[in-house]
Amino acid sequence: MAIELDTLTITSAHAAMKKGEYTPLELANAFLDKAKKQNSEVNAYLEFYDDIGAQAKVADGLFASGKATALTGIPVAVKDNILVKGKVASGASKILANHVATYDATVISKLKAQGAILLGRTNMDEFAMGSTTENSAFGVTKNPRDISRVAGGTSGGSAAAVAMKGALVALGSDTGGSVRLPAAFCGLVGLKPTYGSVSRYGLMATASSLDQIGTLAHSVEEARELFLAIKGHDPLDSTSMPDELMKNAPKKTKLRIGVPRKFVDVDGLAKEVREAFEATLDGFKKSGHEVVDIELPYLKYALPVYYIINPAEISANLARYDGIRYGYSEGENIHDVYFNSRGEGFGEEVKRRILLGTYILSAGYYDAYYNKANSLREIIRDDLAKAFKEVDIIATPTAPTAAYKIGEKSSDPLAMYLGDIFTVTANVAGLPALSVPMGKEKLPFGVQLMSRSCQEETLFQAGVIVETIWQHQ
Ligand code: GLN
Repeated sequence: MAIELDTLTITSAHAAMKKGEYTPLELANAFLDKAKKQNSEVNAYLEFYDDIGAQAKVADGLFASGKATALTGIPVAVKDNILVKGKVASGASKILANHVATYDATVISKLKAQGAILLGRTNMDEFAMGSTTENSAFGVTKNPRDISRVAGGTSGGSAAAVAMKGALVALGSDTGGSVRLPAAFCGLVGLKPTYGSVSRYGLMATASSLDQIGTLAHSVEEARELFLAIKGHDPLDSTSMPDELMKNAPKKTKLRIGVPRKFVDVDGLAKEVREAFEATLDGFKKSGHEVVDIELPYLKYALPVYYIINPAEISANLARYDGIRYGYSEGENIHDVYFNSRGEGFGEEVKRRILLGTYILSAGYYDAYYNKANSLREIIRDDLAKAFKEVDIIATPTAPTAAYKIGEKSSDPLAMYLGDIFTVTANVAGLPALSVPMGKEKLPFGVQLMSRSCQEETLFQAGVIVETIWQHQ
């Protein structure tokens, strides 16, 4: 039978496969056909995997033995910085163009055990630095909603894959907004979970204290299902959270939504985004929830703090790509090997951050920049903790504007960084945040909902309310 991909969800696909209406292989092939037709234009995938048949057999077995879970047979796209054993994982960098992963990331082991079908690896900004996927060594990913625009970044390939119905759901990574921003730009739901709730084992490190694997989907429910399938304590990740701490508070019928008004009113906030945001807040009120203004005086420092800590950690993490352990270029002597490999193998943004980070961490500047940023990080956390005594959710737009035109910001790194103003806070504070589509314009926007640590279920509850609000507009 022909599978109707446009309205398919994890739940409906699961039910259909359980009844035997179609097989996991047929479902995977339906998505792959659609993805391959569009990929030369959109450039969402860097590679389609060639072992779909073998993966589908695992799913068949789980259905046959009655052990199928929600994710069994579900086609998933995987960002190119998450390791899948035996497959190339390049971080969209020339320096790792032929690097084959020797082990599975924990999230991948979990998905494989549940019989999910990994369709391929998706494009991204090199080593997850950027906001548009224009920093990939393998070309920009275009936005399926308007191909003159970026899909957002850095998980742009994952977002585009789901948006063009080339995968049902996808994994991304979020260091400062890289799941939420492309979700907002492509009209999807994107979850950045609590730091430590999803294992980072097998995720290429960008900035270790900020990185977290997240999920992209068409609906809150599906982003949740994928999150539930990958979360949990992992002894292989020293920053992984004990399961006992990952408990949701009891569900409330009336939520209190806090809006940091002064912070939201940034220069450059597009009129249409503001209107959609206000309509979303009205929708919350009309459905019986409370919306209050809150003061978060230190929030304005989150972006500068992020852009100190992020390059500092990047400069340390990326030192491993030296041309020896991960070969790239030749040289007469060790110095030339380093110099040529890193010089030729890294793109501009990566070099910019390594230089900046090395400077920040150098003896003379460490106290002035890195230590100061870390102190402010604590203050921002306290500021948020105080706010969360009063409210369940903090709401802002996900980004000040809709998706940029391709090339619009790529020559101006600072303008690009400013687009992260609303998203970086969750990473600086380690909190979970969810972007949900809002608005009725051709180009979508996102509303960002942030909650206390480990309260993802509260985010999902609020996210479903947003979905309902916009279904009825
Ligand atoms: N845009 C941010 C940056 O360039 C966030 C990237 C990310 O989340 N990986 O660092």
